[in-house]
Amino acid sequence: MTLDRAALQPTDDVGEHRHAAAILDGDRRALARAITLIESTRSDHRAQAESLLAELLPATGRSIRIGISGVPGVGKSTFIEAFGLHIVARGHRVAVITVDPSSPISGGSILGDKTRMEKLSRHPSTYIRPSPSGGSLGGVARRTREVILATEAAGFDVILVETVGVGQSETAVAGLVDMFMLLIAPGGGDELQGLKKGIVELAELIVVNKADGDLIPAAERARRDYSAALHLLRHGSEGWTPKVLKCSSMTGEAIDEVWETAEAFRTAMSASGKLEARRAEQAKAWMWDEVNEALARRLKEDAAVGALLPELEARVQAGSVNPADAARQVLAAFGCKDE
Ligand code: GDP
Repeated sequence: MTLDRAALQPTDDVGEHRHAAAILDGDRRALARAITLIESTRSDHRAQAESLLAELLPATGRSIRIGISGVPGVGKSTFIEAFGLHIVARGHRVAVITVDPSSPISGGSILGDKTRMEKLSRHPSTYIRPSPSGGSLGGVARRTREVILATEAAGFDVILVETVGVGQSETAVAGLVDMFMLLIAPGGGDELQGLKKGIVELAELIVVNKADGDLIPAAERARRDYSAALHLLRHGSEGWTPKVLKCSSMTGEAIDEVWETAEAFRTAMSASGKLEARRAEQAKAWMWDEVNEALARRLKEDAAVGALLPELEARVQAGSVNPADAARQVLAAFGCKDE
C-alpha cells in the first residue's frame, strides 16, 4: 500500500472540517486520506482520525454491513465480484473492506489484492479497500470499525467485510457487522469441512458456492448437511432463522437469491428492532474494547509499574510470589487501591 503523502500533513480544525465535508460529498481521495489517518499508528494522526470520525458520525449507520467469511479457495473473491456487481446493478454503492490479521507486516496480504475483483474494483459505484497489513486482532478490529463508518459517511450503503477463514477473525468480524455470511464449497464428504462449530454458529446465512457443472449434486448434499447442522444448533438472532443457499459465483446462478436473502434479513431485523439493538450492543462492546486497550497500554507505559516488573516477573516465574499477589502489587503501583 502506498501512503498518501497529503494525509501525513498535520491539519488544523478548518482543514479537518473541510476534509469531513469532502468525504460527505463522496470525494474518494478524501475518503482514502481518512482511511490512511485511521490506519496510522501516530498519536497525532489518531487524534485527527477521532475528530474526523466525530464529524462523520451523524452520516453513518445507513448501510447494511455484511461479513463474508470462508477458507482460502472457497471462492470469496469470485463471489464478492459477482455479488458486488449484482448489487451495484440495483443502484447501490458497495464498499469492500478486507480483514486479514494473518498477513505479514511487510509482505502481501492473502486478501488485499485489488486484482482479485477486477470488474468490481473498476466500477464507479464501488470502493475496495485492500487489507491493512499485520497488527493485533484488536487493532485490526478497531481500524475496520472506523473504516466502515468512513465509507458509510462517503455514501456507500452496502458494506462487505471480507475475512479469511482462519479462526478468531470471524468472531471479531461478526461483532462489527449486521449479518454474518459463511461461504463453503461442496466437499468430498458430508463432514463440516474442518470449520470450527463456533464459526457455523455465527452464520446468519451459509452459502454453498461452486454449485455448477459436476459439482451441483455435491453442492446440494452440502446444502442439506448444513441445513441439518444449523437445525441442530438451533441458534440465531431472534426474528431470523439462519438459512443455507447454494449458488455459483462463476455462472451467477442464484446470486440474486443471496442478495434477496440479505435484504430480507435486514427488513426482518429492522422491523423487530433487533438491528438497532445489535448495533447498540456492538457500540457498547467497542467502547469497552477501547477502555481495556487504553488501560493495558497505560499500565505498560507507567514508570512505577516498569520499575517493579522485572523483579516481580522473575519472582512469579521462580514460584516465590503467588501470581495473584503479584497482580495486586502491579495494580497498587499503578495507583489502583485494593478491593
Ligand atoms: P478465495 O481464496 O476464497 O478468494 O477464492 P477465489 O475466489 O480466488 O477462488 C478460488 C478458486 O475457485 C478459483 O480457481 C475460482 O475460479 C474457483 N471458483 C470460485 N467460484 C467458483 C464457482 O462458483 N464455481 C466454480 N466451479 N469455481 C469457482
